[in-house]
Amino acid sequence: MYITKQNGQLIVPDNVDIPFIEGDGVGAEITAVCQRVVNAAVNLAYHHERSIIWQEVLAGGKAHAQTGEWLPSSTLQTFQDALIGIKGPLMTPVGGGIRSLNVTLRQTLDLYVCQRPVRWFRGVESPIKHPEDVDMCIFRENAEDIYAGIEWKAGTPEAQKFYQFLHEQMGVDKVRFPETSSFGVKPVSRQGTERLVRSAIEYALKNNKRKVTLVHKGNIMKYTEGGFREWGYELARNEFADALANGQLEINDCICDAFLQNTLLKPREYQVIATLNLNGDYISDQLAAMVGGIGIAPGANINYNTGCAIFEATHGIAPDIAGKDIVNPSSLILSAVMMLEYIGWNEASLLITNAMEQLFQQGIATIDLARFMENGHPVGTQAFGNALVEEMKK
Ligand code: NAD
Repeated sequence: MYITKQNGQLIVPDNVDIPFIEGDGVGAEITAVCQRVVNAAVNLAYHHERSIIWQEVLAGGKAHAQTGEWLPSSTLQTFQDALIGIKGPLMTPVGGGIRSLNVTLRQTLDLYVCQRPVRWFRGVESPIKHPEDVDMCIFRENAEDIYAGIEWKAGTPEAQKFYQFLHEQMGVDKVRFPETSSFGVKPVSRQGTERLVRSAIEYALKNNKRKVTLVHKGNIMKYTEGGFREWGYELARNEFADALANGQLEINDCICDAFLQNTLLKPREYQVIATLNLNGDYISDQLAAMVGGIGIAPGANINYNTGCAIFEATHGIAPDIAGKDIVNPSSLILSAVMMLEYIGWNEASLLITNAMEQLFQQGIATIDLARFMENGHPVGTQAFGNALVEEMKK
């Protein structure tokens, strides 16, 4: 049975069907380990009274080989019906006008939040002095901004037409080299901002985090990024007045460049970050690098209104290491941890994070992390999964 949403609440059956996309490249290896670890955690936490029934749906190379399509409509339909799913990384098919599969998934399901929790695990090497101070959750707007894909290439009739409109009808004379300019459009709306900031604040309150920071470049882009700041504050005042008054919630803002510096210098100042699409892209990668990098950063794309959510490994298909049993499965496993938390199966999620903490402290990790650890014992992908399962049983 699938998860449903009724009267604003997720209804989660004890034996729940969850669709998954295996993913390309290293996808098969990390998916197998992830499912083994999650199954063990659910069994241990709920004594076989709950279970996940994994239902494979196709996308990427496997879908193309079997159906001739990169992203079959049945896959999108299943995610829509099941509300919640998980995916490995997908290659972006080159050429032929095929859009990124990840972008298509996000747009079709209107997954407007890209959520990235960032925390440090003791034992993991970090480039900063106090990685233990890093504990943030990024809410990146996923549907608007300069990433909306509205752009025209320099020299095309469309770019010329767009410039003519700007120049002749809008009186714009600031384009320095109009003949050789490409153009992009940056839509940022009140509705888009409000639903993102609302989700960030609700998450903060639910997880006992007091501070929500709006990160923007409103000093330069006054109506788009400045609008995000203004609408964000307004929403907080209008919808969360009590929480603001009783000190449960504190909302502030920071210019993006200063924010990137501050996260290196005083990461403890920040808890929940609400930001626009492009800023969020940079911020997510910097923060991930501060706590161990690409192999360990989890993520999810979520529509908090419909409840629809796809949890995902945030790294790519890593073709250089595929099939070698060395890929770090932690990004997908920690994404599954987010999924368990999202559906309220916190006992199972805790088992996994506790076990991972224990292993990293003992220096047990895949080679990408173990080679930088003082007491590092590199293990393969499958062995790392087995070690997690054994650790959970203790
Ligand atoms: P990548 O993340 O695949 O690889 C970058 C580097 O990091 C490589 O050296 C790789 O070996 C290493 N790496 C990545 N994940 C790792 C892990 N879990 N453990 C250990 N090392 C790991 O990024 P890329 O090379 O820029 O992209 C390759 C392909 O992946 C492209 O087709 C791209 O479109 C796709 N991609 C997909 C997603 C996604 O599906 N979410 C995200 C990024 C890139």
